[in-house]
Amino acid sequence: MTSFEELAKASGLLGFTGFDLYRIAIPMREPFRISSGEVAVKDSLLLKVNGGDAFGWGESSAMPGAFYSSETPDSCWEELSTVVLPALAGREFPDMVSLEEFLKEQSQSAFVRVAVETAAWELLARRRGVSLRSLFSIADREVVSGLAVGLYDTREELREALERYRPRDYARLKIKIKRGQDVELVRAVRQWLPDVPLFVDANADYGREDFATFQELDAFGLMMFEQPLARGELEASAELQRLVRTPVCLDESIETADDARRAIQLGSCRIVNIKLQRVGGYLEALRIIEICSRGGIPVWMGTMPELGIGSAQALQLAAHPAFRFPTDVEPSERWYEDDILMPRLSLANSQLHVPAGPGIGFQVDERKLEQYCTARKTFKT
Ligand SMILES: [Mg+2]
Repeated sequence: MTSFEELAKASGLLGFTGFDLYRIAIPMREPFRISSGEVAVKDSLLLKVNGGDAFGWGESSAMPGAFYSSETPDSCWEELSTVVLPALAGREFPDMVSLEEFLKEQSQSAFVRVAVETAAWELLARRRGVSLRSLFSIADREVVSGLAVGLYDTREELREALERYRPRDYARLKIKIKRGQDVELVRAVRQWLPDVPLFVDANADYGREDFATFQELDAFGLMMFEQPLARGELEASAELQRLVRTPVCLDESIETADDARRAIQLGSCRIVNIKLQRVGGYLEALRIIEICSRGGIPVWMGTMPELGIGSAQALQLAAHPAFRFPTDVEPSERWYEDDILMPRLSLANSQLHVPAGPGIGFQVDERKLEQYCTARKTFKT
């Protein structure tokens, strides 16, 4: 058994005295567009889990529509408020593994379970007066951040966006591509920013018939091709990886530790992007890290992007030595007009500072929470 599994088994009795579920809407600085859709307001669910002497915060950060996953903020709100939280209220669990099993019985959705799972871990960390990093035995280090930009109608708009968002303040740049907006886009960005480490994220837009596009992109020395093919296309992804030198990175394809195991066996990727939201929390993320480490596959920390709570949770894990590429977590003001976290996430020398302190290390600003709250439900035992 690995150290984190022992920790999860020995985490101690978990009982919940109540839950506060908030629905939050914060305007984005500009609409974010990828190959499957566009979003202009960040609609997120925040969950405060109360456990007598301590509390923890969680976030459920699905995108609206069929933007990234089949889950949406509406479906997650419905499941959390009518099924999961009523089932949890008043229940006790001997350890985190039992809680995780119970959550899987209540909901098929990682985006639903992650809110409770991560909050329960923070509750345990706060109860011990330590950060999540310390709880997971991860040594403190600054986390290096990368800039991600969405799709734009014209190359000129992309260039203006790159000027606004200052890629040189970060350790690398990731741009989104889709069919018809790829090779020439990369060529242009390479000309504008020849010295900036660069890669592309296709968000599953391509198929076998497009392999030639990636063979062309192979000439640009990109750090990786993120999720070229559809979620279930692990065999085709292995074919693509055999055709190109650039490492293929899987994001949408890796929802569980079993997905990671299969992808590594097939040779479907050489890098894995880990998102707490997509895998349902810290325990599954740690299992994926373990499998990737054993398979010699480096990982990095992705984002939806989440609001501050989800971002701070990601930063706690991103200090793990298996994370070998800059994270997609960016300062709060990169995406949003405002946030509910204190202090704000800030960038210096391409690094994100994580305050020392229990749990996620940050505090929730209750005044901002009220300001941006569009719905609220409280559950008490
Ligand atoms: Mg991605």
